[in-house]
This record gives sequence, structure tokens and C-alpha cells, in this order.
Amino acid sequence: MVATVILGMLCVHLLLFSGMFLLFSTKLHGKKMGLDVFAIGNLLLGLAYLMQLVGGPSGWGVMSVVNHTLTLCAPVAYVLGAMRFFNRPVPVWRPLSALAGIYTAAQVLVQSTLGSEARYALLAGCCALLFLAMTVTLLYGTRTFAKDLRTEVVVFAVLIGGICALNAAKFVAILSGGLQALDMNSRFQMVFYIYMSFLGTVLPPSAVWLVLSRLTDDLRGMAARDPLTGLLNRRGLMDGLDAYFRARPAASAHLLIVDIDHFKSINDTWGHKVGDLVLCRVAEVLRSTARRGDLTCRLGGEEFVVVAFDTDSIGATQLAERMREAIEDRQMQDSGLTEPVRCTATIGVSEGFASAAAFDETLHQADAALYRGKMSGRNCVEMVRARETQPAASLSLG
Ligand code: GH3
Ligand code: MG
Ligand code: MG
Repeated sequence: MVATVILGMLCVHLLLFSGMFLLFSTKLHGKKMGLDVFAIGNLLLGLAYLMQLVGGPSGWGVMSVVNHTLTLCAPVAYVLGAMRFFNRPVPVWRPLSALAGIYTAAQVLVQSTLGSEARYALLAGCCALLFLAMTVTLLYGTRTFAKDLRTEVVVFAVLIGGICALNAAKFVAILSGGLQALDMNSRFQMVFYIYMSFLGTVLPPSAVWLVLSRLTDDLRGMAARDPLTGLLNRRGLMDGLDAYFRARPAASAHLLIVDIDHFKSINDTWGHKVGDLVLCRVAEVLRSTARRGDLTCRLGGEEFVVVAFDTDSIGATQLAERMREAIEDRQMQDSGLTEPVRCTATIGVSEGFASAAAFDETLHQADAALYRGKMSGRNCVEMVRARETQPAASLSLG
């Protein structure tokens, strides 16, 4: 009786959360983060348990076959949902229908050759193996695809490991004690459904929490990046500088300001779309030429800033020269273009600076060097000069 009540509550939980996941996922238009697939998993498991409630004691029949198939498909749906959550664009309906077909056929075969006990043992054994694979994958994920969610994923792995152990115990119990092991009033079934009910209550809100924390991280990332080029924006650059100098208070950095030459005439000649393409290509060149850990930022318009760490003035000037050459060599090809577009850039290099608070002053210095570069004919690298490092210097770009 108690197990039946618990099972009923579990059904209600699963089906309600299925609806909630579906509602959430409709709000997350492009990126559903697997919530729609978790909704399918909950629906399948909820229906399976509902059939068990309505179907009564264990036996052979269409309802029981469908119930077993749904019970096995549900965890697979959760796995597929988790893969989507971790940005793996896996198909859902095809693998689920293939599994449903194969498992239904396997059930008929086992039932007709080995009987009901073997069919129930098959389900418990398959579930145990499936949950074991999920536990191992999650533990592996803490070092690879789910590094940023280590604690949460370990907790999930432990909880799922519990279902694996219970299914393995059920498998052994059926083999040794027959179908009596599945009596709803037995202590084993009570423990089994209490545990499942506990998971049914704990896991869905945890999944929602994981999705919300991912969304918050995404929003924070978007607020720090320029949407066109994907480089940091000014805010992201300041955050990066703060983090760098907080961790290494004695370190110094150099700032490079990169300005595309005659960009207005590229826009005027080829149109704004090609102008945007040029901005993206220059951004790629800067990103790939800078060292890992350096900061690359689009300050606005056709102006970029690169902050080079762990280098001196000579190293920073060499980096600027490599960037200038790479931009000059890069041809921009687009389907709508009759000929490749090229561009050049002028780069101003600052002196070393050692705090995020010095950013504005350093930018001002590099801007003065850039202005000199523009005046001397463009497509060149200019290092800041002693008089330009004076706070009173009031040169600015034209
Ligand atoms: P200089 O060699 O002196 O730097 O000349 P310039 O033409 O590059 O500089 P100017 O400041 O005169 O023109 C910058 C142009 O950049 C003007 C503006 O329309 C264009 N621009 C700014 N932001 C964007 C953008 O997001 N996309 C495109 N396509 N153009 C942009
Ligand atoms: Mg320009
Ligand atoms: Mg400019």
C-alpha cells in the first residue's frame, strides 16, 4: 500500500516536471539546453510508472511490454538531454524509436524462450548497466566536458550510481527469488520507490538550477563581448585586466591600439556588409596572432586593443609588427565580391603598465603613438615616445 502511494506521488512529480521542463524550453528559443529532452524522459518514466500502477501485479501483456520499453527509454532520453546540455547536438527521436523497437522485440524473444522472470531480470539488468554507464560518463565528464560543473556533476553521478546499485540488486533478487521480489509490499520495492521518489523530487529542480546557472554565465559572457567579432568589449577588457593584476600585482603589460586604415572608404566602396566582414577578419588575425592569455578587444568602430602580458617593449613592438603584416597579407573573400578585399592597419604601442587603473592613461599614450603613425602615412607600428607619456599630452586621433 505504502509503495503504491509513493509510486503514485512519483508519477505526479515526473509528469508535472515534464510539463514544467517543456514550458521552460519553449521560452529558451534557440538554445533549449536539453530541457525539452528531459521533458520527454520524465514523460516516458511517468507513463511507465502510471502503467505499473494501473496494470497491477507483474505479468505478461501489452501493457507490461510497453511499460518496460518506456522504463528503459527514459534514462536514454536523460542521457541525450544531458548531451544537449553539454552542447552536443545529438538526435533524439531516431535513437529513442530504434531503442524502443529493439527492446520490444528483445522482450518478446526473452518472454517466449525464457519466461517472465527473465524478462523482468532483463529490464533490471539493462537499467543497471545503463545507469552504470551514466555514472562513469559523468565522473569522466568532471575532467573533460563538464569541468565547470565539477561538484554538481559528482553529486549527480553519486545519485545515479544509487539507481544503478538498486537495479543490480533487483536483478539479483529476481534471479534468486523470482517475481515475488517485485511484490509492491516487499521491503525491497519500498526502498526502491522511496529512493526513486527522492530522486524524482531532487533531480528536476537541480536540472533547472544547472540550466539557469548556464544561462547566467552565457549572459555574463555576452555582456563582456562584442557581438560582431566575438572579441572582448571594453567592459570585458577591464574585467580581464582587473583579474590579471589582482592575481599578479607586480606584473606589467603593454597595450596595442590597432586602427584599420581608411576603413570609411572600404565601407563606401564595398558596402557596410563587407565592412563588417573586414572587421571580423581583422579580429580573427588579432586573436590568432596574440598569445594565449593576452586580451583582444574591439574598443568600438574599427579600433581594437590588444593587451600583451609577460613581454617587454621590444616584444610588444614585434607582436604589433606581426599583427600589422598579418592584416596586410590577409585577403577577404566573400561570395558577393568580384575581387578580394585587402586592408591595412596602423598600430600604436604603449609603455608597460602595471594596473587596471592605469588603463585610460596607457590608452591615451598608445593613441598618441597611433596618431603619429597615421600622420606618417599609415600601415605602420609606432612606439610611444617619452614626451607622449606625460599626462599633459593632449594628442588625439583624427
Ligand atoms: P583612418 O585611416 O584615419 O583611420 O580613417 P578611417 O576611415 O579608418 O577612420 P574614420 O574614423 O574616418 O572612419 C571610421 C569608419 O568606421 C566610419 C564608420 O562608419 C565605420 N564604422 C564604425 N563602426 C562600424 C561597424 O560596426 N561596421 C562597419 N561596417 N563600419 C563601421
Ligand atoms: Mg581607421
Ligand atoms: Mg578610428
